[in-house]
Amino acid sequence: MNSRERASTAPVCRLCAGPVRECVDLGRQPVSNAFLRPQDVGSESFFRLAVGICADCAMVQQLEAMPTSHMFRADYPYRSSSSDGLRRHFEQVAGWLRDTELTDPADLVVEIGCNDGLMLRTLGAAGVRHIGVDPSAGAAQAAAARGAEVRVDFFDERSAAEIRAERGPAKVIFSANTISHIADIDEIFRGVDRLLRSDGIFVFEDRYVADIIEHAYFDQIYDEHFYLFSVRAVDAMVARFGFELVDVEHIPIHGGSLRYTVARPGVRPVRECVARLIEDEARYGIGEHDTYVRFGQQIDRIGADLVALLTDLRDAGRRVVGYGATSKSATVTNYCGIGPDLVPYICDTTPEKQGRLSPGAHIPIRPHEVFADPYPDYALLFAWNHAEEVMAKERRFVEQGGRWILYVPHVRIV
Ligand SMILES: [Zn+2]
Repeated sequence: MNSRERASTAPVCRLCAGPVRECVDLGRQPVSNAFLRPQDVGSESFFRLAVGICADCAMVQQLEAMPTSHMFRADYPYRSSSSDGLRRHFEQVAGWLRDTELTDPADLVVEIGCNDGLMLRTLGAAGVRHIGVDPSAGAAQAAAARGAEVRVDFFDERSAAEIRAERGPAKVIFSANTISHIADIDEIFRGVDRLLRSDGIFVFEDRYVADIIEHAYFDQIYDEHFYLFSVRAVDAMVARFGFELVDVEHIPIHGGSLRYTVARPGVRPVRECVARLIEDEARYGIGEHDTYVRFGQQIDRIGADLVALLTDLRDAGRRVVGYGATSKSATVTNYCGIGPDLVPYICDTTPEKQGRLSPGAHIPIRPHEVFADPYPDYALLFAWNHAEEVMAKERRFVEQGGRWILYVPHVRIV
């Protein structure tokens, strides 16, 4: 589609059909988790990664949706368990749900997009009735190996009805970093409506657009993150699907996320923090198009600064390697045009990624052990959301003269 054709079909909001105004364009991007074998270069899928904001409901959303079948395949390589911080987080969530909601032996918890079962295995070990739903067979296998019950499937009205028929309604439906991935989000809510007990809660965690803006976390925008949630937009969204947003909690996951608690209207008291956060968002312009246009300008600056720094280091004969072949790294490398000439390889602990090439930019992925053999002069930290954990683990790198390159909220060497 050329730009003139695009202009003639103004995008509309996926949720409320209001007009969506484009504000950030990150260019041609691949499927962010599609690490490819060298022989598969040339067969990748690309799409234009651009986001806009709905003038009516303020939901920030991508303008083109990559089909989910491209993204969450059997070989989907992301594993929550690869981070100690996430492991602790999900154990805490499991403890909280067990102590407050899942107190009766008959209570059922369903997790949408359970990945390798970090949370469910904790609940399962405590004897809580549970089932996870995840379309990635690999992740589900890993979850099953850890003792979590998983159904390899997409969560929608059909699968929700089948689970209800087999196990009864759910007291809690939980999901972390999944709901914003689904462009056709009404399928999710139809499923929740079908499966949730009348007094149950639907709890979901997702990256918070205000944190993304404040810290210029532009690489949180990639194919999988179709929506960037704000409290205002989520409040409107759940109301449209016949639910009520009753609680919101700020949590320090993935650079700043919110945990939303949703119930059927009138069933649970609405905590005052919901209205307060919506007011805060209005004060900071989180629902305003201009805010995102300025964000786009900030992204341009970061991209230019990062390429200039990497070019200078290369020309000075310095060795730079990437650390953490994250989905975020796909956005950064493809947006900036960073290839193996500037970053010869990326070290990563995930076996499924090693020996492959990064999507779009085709930077080789090497095992983590290569990082210290020998240490590079500089490491470009793509896994910045785990910066503290990574820097503590790699203390020797800095002791031996290595330096980290960070690029959000601005490019710097630390
Ligand atoms: Zn809308």
